[in-house]
Amino acid sequence: MPYVIIYMVIHLKNFFDFTFLEFIDYLEKNGYKKYNALQIFDWIYKKRENNFDNMSNLSKNLRFFLKNNLKLNSLKILKYEKSIDTYKFLFQLDDKEYIESVLMIHNYGKSVCISTQVGCNMGCSFCESGKLKKRRNLNFYEMNEQLFLIEITLNIKINSVVLMGIGEPFDNYENVLKFIKHINDSKTFEIGARHITVSTCGIVPKIIQFSNEEIQANLAISLHASNDTLRNKLMKINKVYSIKEIMDSLKYYIKKTNRRVTIEYLLLCNINDYDYNAFELANLLKGLNVYVNLIPYNETSKSIYQKSKKVQILKFYDILKKNNINVTIRKEFGKEISAACGQLRSKEVDK
Ligand code: SF4
Repeated sequence: MPYVIIYMVIHLKNFFDFTFLEFIDYLEKNGYKKYNALQIFDWIYKKRENNFDNMSNLSKNLRFFLKNNLKLNSLKILKYEKSIDTYKFLFQLDDKEYIESVLMIHNYGKSVCISTQVGCNMGCSFCESGKLKKRRNLNFYEMNEQLFLIEITLNIKINSVVLMGIGEPFDNYENVLKFIKHINDSKTFEIGARHITVSTCGIVPKIIQFSNEEIQANLAISLHASNDTLRNKLMKINKVYSIKEIMDSLKYYIKKTNRRVTIEYLLLCNINDYDYNAFELANLLKGLNVYVNLIPYNETSKSIYQKSKKVQILKFYDILKKNNINVTIRKEFGKEISAACGQLRSKEVDK
């Protein structure tokens, strides 16, 4: 009789795929108690312990169960680059795809920009991520782990999160929403909803949907153009949802939530940074509860655009200011490393 070898494949669940309530349910179904969930969340999210063996107040039996049923890592940090105020992380996922996150050190706290997809289908012409087509959405646990690994690696507490890395967050809506609620939970990262920002290139139905959610997170719109002709050239999504439709959805969001919206405007030399663009933008935003974040472009060797001249950035800023638009110029982070969205991943994929 031939030998029959039976392989038992044990499928480990990922701890970071559980919200607190889901984890209580999971433990209770396996004969453990609610307070065990509290203990384990405290070890992992507060004490940042990533070895079940070291969770000294758990019974031997529970530690054995956890070790044999759960894993605590699916992402690997392949490398990180560091400058004075910025750390850029390149992660490898279970299926060998790459994503990245950026940590920015502000004088008021530490902010992380995380990815929500592998690649992006929105195809914005100025974006490194957009050149790499979307392969898939990130799972909830993959967003969660980006934060955890950054905190544990640098031994820091993250104060704010922006969903503005690789991918369009509203193209991965359910996971993104679950992630926002989870990191806001006092049992986990406890990041105040007002310190969480979702940035979209303008997927209008999702802006409406987001307006109707009972959460206090911030909304940012990547506008980057002051009229449709220009925006059609820079951002493919504009052919689906025009500036007028975006503005209507913004008005709805502001009315519904009473919250201020951030308008992101990347300044590209002699493309969208003319005086008349600033006047058009001021006209579009007149009377709305918004503030404009002017972003100096981060040039790379592959860039088809150039950074606006400093004098023009200041002029653009002045025109908006004089037209009563709240406006700031974003501080440039990590110029000496590949800090623009998608650059580090794109280097790795090129290799
Ligand atoms: S800017 Fe954002 S939405 Fe546009 S291609 Fe890049 S990642 Fe996608």
